[in-house]
Amino acid sequence: MRIRRYLIGFAGCLLILAACAAHRPPPPSTDIDEEAFRAYVRTLASDGFEGRKPGTPGEAKTVDYLVEQFHRLNLKPGNGTSYLQQVPMVEIVPSSAPTLVISGHGASRALAYKTDMVLWSKRVAADAVVKNSELVFVGYGIVAAEYGWNDYAGMDVHGKIVVVLVNDPGHVSDDPNVFKGRTMTYYGRWTYKVEEAARQGASGVLLIHDTDAASYGWDVVLSSWTGAQLDKDSADGNAGRAAIEGWITGAAARVLFAQAGLDFSSLTSGAAHPGFKAIPMGLFADAEVHDAIRRFTSPNVIAILPGNARHREYILYTAHWDHLGRTEGSNGGEIFHGAVDNASGVAGLLVLAQSFVRTRPPPDRSIVFLALTGEESGLLGSSYYAANPVYPLSSTVADINMDALHIGGPTRDVTVIGFGQSELEGYLRDAAALQGRDLHAEPKPENGDYFRSDNFSFAKAGVPALYAVGGIDDSARGPVWGQAQLDDYNAHRYHQPGDVYSPDWDLRGTIMDLRLYYRVGMRLAQTRRFPNWYSTSEFRAARERSREGVTD
Ligand SMILES: [Zn+2]
Repeated sequence: MRIRRYLIGFAGCLLILAACAAHRPPPPSTDIDEEAFRAYVRTLASDGFEGRKPGTPGEAKTVDYLVEQFHRLNLKPGNGTSYLQQVPMVEIVPSSAPTLVISGHGASRALAYKTDMVLWSKRVAADAVVKNSELVFVGYGIVAAEYGWNDYAGMDVHGKIVVVLVNDPGHVSDDPNVFKGRTMTYYGRWTYKVEEAARQGASGVLLIHDTDAASYGWDVVLSSWTGAQLDKDSADGNAGRAAIEGWITGAAARVLFAQAGLDFSSLTSGAAHPGFKAIPMGLFADAEVHDAIRRFTSPNVIAILPGNARHREYILYTAHWDHLGRTEGSNGGEIFHGAVDNASGVAGLLVLAQSFVRTRPPPDRSIVFLALTGEESGLLGSSYYAANPVYPLSSTVADINMDALHIGGPTRDVTVIGFGQSELEGYLRDAAALQGRDLHAEPKPENGDYFRSDNFSFAKAGVPALYAVGGIDDSARGPVWGQAQLDDYNAHRYHQPGDVYSPDWDLRGTIMDLRLYYRVGMRLAQTRRFPNWYSTSEFRAARERSREGVTD
């Protein structure tokens, strides 16, 4: 009872204080606004937004909504007088099912589209046809001087189709001295494989799918690489790329190797060892892809809170607004709601914007909120921004990227994706320590997740880029439970229509993570320092080139 009387007395004082200060209300809280976060996710992941695919009505709704929110939050347009930076894009839609027939050693076999293979062309042209092109198995398809590795050594693949394994040799060897061991390097990403094959002059590239090495199943291949494909439009119509790109299943690959009289297991394991030599398979492919082409633009949405003191130095928060749209099928197909991926990150961007707008005095450096397009189609919006930056990259202090926030209870740890890259980790570590949390490397560095979100476009351009999410060590239920939650999401909801919002989401951990991102950005905004990449990072050289001659 004594407590209660005290409370009544306290409330009385508050009333008097409130009366005295009636014309001067307390400043609004800068803390992360959970109700606003929920409303943003609910809206962005709703049916009306149709999966937020660039070039669709769902895009228009999403972009209008973001502009409206930035405006309502009193943020200035981030691109001159506009909130938009238009990214030239092209939509490439198969006008018939792609075909792939492989002949040789006395047999001829048509691989079935979607069952055995998926095929596409990123060339901006109606037809991509390859005739009688020899298949060459090039192992991991890597040329990496720093690892003394060249899978193309002594092999001219001009006009040929290369058959490639995903991931890198460290993945199977599990030896930290082979590449980065279990931690995937960029050489392990499929994007690298197709870039390298094109540099080598190959007319086609077939990636051998393996769920473990790719870290995603065939269902993700089907949902990501069939139907309409988006890409950046370029002056040369992507003529520099191989005419044909595609995946074949592991089972189809085994059949092909058997047809060629080659031992799949010993060749693929041999590919992980130095001295591997690319092998012409004695098989020849006819492949055809026919496409309808549509050019359009899709915007990055940018807002800025100008700095109070050093407004020409920028802290960037990024989150991709786009997702996959709808499945193919009758009645327009099912909607990919993308609630976690990445309505959650965009909602994070908006609530962080609200917190920064309410911060008094405003941060010294400018804070830029950048909602990116085309991430799901290959980091299109972020790579365009990095090539056409609105704010000089040399004066961009850091990128803090949010993609698929941790939805779950509080965790004792924070997962840093691409751990061990930059001094930004020190800022994050300090902020996490205030919450009694510590930093961990991602549980599966073999997945190469650092190369799979927009932070990578900034990293490639030298801007230190942080990509961290709530950990797996659930405060109440421990790491086994936490990992099981993550596995369950990846198996059942990631890039599937079931990635939906629920009012049951426990956002306590999410809010803690957003407070971390706020603290890291705030501290970066109040310092004069430009944190760098660690000396062991492959991105440090790009930063030093970009910062050369810049005086802070
Ligand atoms: Zn995402």
